[in-house]
Amino acid sequence: MSNVKELARLMLDGLLQLAVENARERPDLSDRYASMAMRLSERTRVRLSKDWKHLICGSCGSFIYPGIGSRVRVVQRRAPHVVVTCLRCGCMKRYAIGKTPTSTEDKSPTSEY
Ligand SMILES: [Zn+2]
Repeated sequence: MSNVKELARLMLDGLLQLAVENARERPDLSDRYASMAMRLSERTRVRLSKDWKHLICGSCGSFIYPGIGSRVRVVQRRAPHVVVTCLRCGCMKRYAIGKTPTSTEDKSPTSEY
């Protein structure tokens, strides 16, 4: 991996860690850190990890820390899933839970036949 990408990954982690630390007292700063991280990620083509990506609203770009910038609900209808609602723009994200990826061995025909 190139040196630029390693540096970008370190900066992304630092920025988003700062966003988490300031989420309660300075939500405006957290939003700024989140937007800087998104921009850095786009410019350097370094993907944000899934954990970090869940903390940034895809619609308005604000930092949606659970309980502060977002409402998190577990819904049991159909397949159980988590609904994260951004409290700024009202955008909702849904994540499936309790679903394990199926292994390819189960679907492949057995060698006995
Ligand atoms: Zn939003």
